[in-house]
Amino acid sequence: MAFVTRFAPSPTGPLHLGHAYSAILAHDMARAAGGRFLLRMEDTDLQRCKPEWEQQIEADLRWLGLDWDGPVYRQSPQIAQYNARLETLVESGLLYPCSCTRSDIRAALSAPQEGVAHPVYPGTCRHRPLSDRQPGDALRLNLVRAFEALDPALLNFEETGPRHHGLHRLGQTFATQTIGDVVLSRKGEDIVAYFLASAFDDADQGITHVIRGEDLFDFTPIQVILHRLFGHDLPIYHHHRLIRDEEGKRLAKRDDARAIATFREDGESPADIRRRIGL
Ligand code: GLU
Repeated sequence: MAFVTRFAPSPTGPLHLGHAYSAILAHDMARAAGGRFLLRMEDTDLQRCKPEWEQQIEADLRWLGLDWDGPVYRQSPQIAQYNARLETLVESGLLYPCSCTRSDIRAALSAPQEGVAHPVYPGTCRHRPLSDRQPGDALRLNLVRAFEALDPALLNFEETGPRHHGLHRLGQTFATQTIGDVVLSRKGEDIVAYFLASAFDDADQGITHVIRGEDLFDFTPIQVILHRLFGHDLPIYHHHRLIRDEEGKRLAKRDDARAIATFREDGESPADIRRRIGL
């Protein structure tokens, strides 16, 4: 079976031990399977992502001894294209316009941050027809309609990671209680949901195996739904354990003390880094 995986950091800070674990694991699994390992910069959050971080991440990955196949793929030039693809769902009646506050919507669209759970949307704007769409409105997915449109068998996904290993059957009740009507984009503002862009790219880049941290497991159901609404095949998912500090706290990008660059400056070698993260 073909094996194509990727490391997909959001360049909003330095590469830390947790990222290194994810990148090395995906790289090593791809190489062991004779497959491909791609590097994708998920830089759709134009306020938080910086080219300097991107360069630093690439330099750190090279220093760790990782090589990726093909050029680095960047999402930001594709934002209009992601929105155009989303518009192809407009006819289907699966989307509705939402005028809830900017900060709510921006938070809902951005890449996951530790301790920031996105509450399930109460459906305030669900009754609004798309003909009522105003400039600046967000587009939300009507989850109940999405379930009506999809064969339930298409929503089963395979997970090979340690914690959630097995075949997952995605039911409507669970999805309604945990996902709800997610925001997918906001028109005219060059914003698109991180999990939508990522799903489009996984499909376009022919990703067969998504290898990433356990913190992203909760995004998998919505990505599975989106893949199926757009007629994509599903990748196999592998959510790996998270690298934690001595107090058991997840390492965040903001935690510069754990940045790979800091260890390197302190004279550690790539082998030391592998040891630190148990590889
Ligand atoms: N860009 C995401 C992050 O840095 C990872 C997305 C993914 O691997 O699917 O947390």
